Amino acid sequence: MSKGYILKGKVVDGSLAAPIERGAVVSEGERIVWVGDEKALPAQYRPGEYELVDLPGRTVMPGIIDAHIHISFGEARSEEELALYTPVEYRTLRAMWNAKKVLQAGVTSAFDAATVNNVAQSVRDAIDADMYDGPRMAVSGRQLTNHQGLEDSFPNEMQFPPGQAAVLVKTRDDLVEAIRYQVKDGVDAIKVSGSNDSLITPDSLDGSAMSYEEYKIIADETHRLGKICTVHARSRDSIKEAAKAGFDVLFHASYIDDEGIELALKNKCLIIPTLPLLVNILEAIESTEGTAGASATSAFRREVDAAIENLPRAYKAGVPLVPGSESGWSPVPYGQWHAREMQIFVDWMGMTPLEAIHAGTLGATRVLKRFGRDVGKLEAGRFADILVVNGDPTKDITLLQKPAKFDWIFKGGAPIDRTPPKPRRQWWYERHKMFLNGVFHYDAASGKGVLKR
Ligand SMILES: [Zn+2]
Repeated sequence: MSKGYILKGKVVDGSLAAPIERGAVVSEGERIVWVGDEKALPAQYRPGEYELVDLPGRTVMPGIIDAHIHISFGEARSEEELALYTPVEYRTLRAMWNAKKVLQAGVTSAFDAATVNNVAQSVRDAIDADMYDGPRMAVSGRQLTNHQGLEDSFPNEMQFPPGQAAVLVKTRDDLVEAIRYQVKDGVDAIKVSGSNDSLITPDSLDGSAMSYEEYKIIADETHRLGKICTVHARSRDSIKEAAKAGFDVLFHASYIDDEGIELALKNKCLIIPTLPLLVNILEAIESTEGTAGASATSAFRREVDAAIENLPRAYKAGVPLVPGSESGWSPVPYGQWHAREMQIFVDWMGMTPLEAIHAGTLGATRVLKRFGRDVGKLEAGRFADILVVNGDPTKDITLLQKPAKFDWIFKGGAPIDRTPPKPRRQWWYERHKMFLNGVFHYDAASGKGVLKR
């Protein structure tokens, strides 16, 4: 049996250093033991003892880190479907099945940015315990929301749905309690619903769901307990107040203004835009000539336009951007689109492909504190989480959305199982039930019915 692998090709190590054109990476067991120019390969790493992978035109790079997925969401089509349908036990099993698809897309680590119940923690632990295949995961728990946050989107006269990926927190004392409760439940991060969402309200997104004082309470307690503090912040003020309070991660940040950029810089915040969700919805609407059934086209358009205008300014000013897919909603199914935001960074945020790869590997390790300095870079001592790509993603970033172009995906030094999961059946209880998506009007002239939305 070989001791490990010698992988030759253009080495892109995940940092911003210039790639090694003819490089080699050696793995032994689950770790990387050597990286460098192939001419300098030490004699001890002999083909025969190590399996040699040496094909022309290949790039060797770290596995992708997707910094925003929802493994428990099951490709839900709406907040209602997520909050109301599918028993939690089935959601957990389904999440486990989906985790393998994420890994098979070359995503060797991921951050789960809000879960139903404690599904994400269990998936993370089942993978780490070597029971099932999936990416290494760090997770936040249920999103903390108040009545103005995205997650409290249901009428006041009904009870907050227990299946929602959030917990309703009404008082400041309860914020501290909710954080301590979730930390006991094993989260790596706290996620807060700091603003509403284009998906929920077509209103303009200026305000903030929580006050500065509340963000400060959350950030202080979360950090005191050694966890990462993250916020769903699409609106101008939620970005500013959370950044000022010391949050580590701002999700979305589409409506960030100059003051917000300054505060994000000063407080060393990371922005994870997760634009694939909105961009894919818009493309789906376009490709189906408006019959995709989305409820807020113009608000999505406005937000994408704002993000394309504002986020490159933040990046240029020095605020790090890290890619996330929002995988778990129906517009962004598992195992697809995970590297789409890297393409968006190149197309719209002013990044070079190398910078986008850095953002989606080493740059993303800040959300994976759990794995310390173990992932994100091709470097001796780190886990051998490695892609061998047929082609050069520093010239064509879209290659990273095509797992068929990955000759090898290693996680912890072992090639992963590439067998695609069998297509699955969907149960009636996973979906909300509609008689018709529209109203069936009587047309007197023809005497027949006409479906109108
Ligand atoms: Zn999300």
